Amino acid sequence: MRKKIVAGNWKMNMTPSQGAILVTDITRQLVKDLDVQIVICPPYTSIDRVARVIRETKWVFCGAQDCHVQLSGAFTGDISAAMLQEMGVRYVILGHSERRKYYHEDDILVAEKIKTAIGEGIRPIYCCGEELQERETNQQFEVVEMQIETALFGLSPEQMSEVVIAYEPVWAIGTGKTATPGQAQEMHEFIRGMIAEKFGDDIASKLSILYGGSCKPENAHELFSQPDIDGGLIGGASLDADAFVKIIQSF
Ligand code: PEP
Repeated sequence: MRKKIVAGNWKMNMTPSQGAILVTDITRQLVKDLDVQIVICPPYTSIDRVARVIRETKWVFCGAQDCHVQLSGAFTGDISAAMLQEMGVRYVILGHSERRKYYHEDDILVAEKIKTAIGEGIRPIYCCGEELQERETNQQFEVVEMQIETALFGLSPEQMSEVVIAYEPVWAIGTGKTATPGQAQEMHEFIRGMIAEKFGDDIASKLSILYGGSCKPENAHELFSQPDIDGGLIGGASLDADAFVKIIQSF
């Protein structure tokens, strides 16, 4: 059975003290024998506080929202996977559409970041997904195929086994518009099929593929009930403990 994962992407929200309160509130509301891994991805400055709160639990993990492709060096303002690892980070979001849009990151760079993160023992949550205009012109499968090929097909099978994929249609991120369960399932099945063809059925069947894009308590259950949807990457709703816990409980 593959892992069910719900990851919260706090983006550039929550000071360290606010983050500590939020994560405490989340963990306090959760029962301990949940069959779901929870990943909290705060901004870098809140990682230490969040990691301290979740240290006691075996099912809540700390994630980061990005890392540099190099492990150290003259890269002013950047943070490396080695630094994150030492702080207790176990997952890192890579290739998020906001990094692609505001920092012009492409899949060639993201492919290298994925290898760097895995080398440091951090599991990448690789984000892919089409823009609105690409969906409207029915190019979503071509776009996602190209993203996956570029970012993931250079990995070894061992490296691929560490990857989590998040399908995040860009038109659904932060817009309140969600992909229908049918649209999301169709894409997740397509992605799993691509991974099966390249890396084999065993790796594909163990791969967790998360859906992201305006996922909330009202739509999480139907999305998570789809056979190829193994959880969610949650933005806005992860900043509200009650909403985030309800999404986790949708499983
Ligand atoms: C995201 O940024 O990864 C995301 C899914 O955001 P939201 O849930 O707010 O659409």
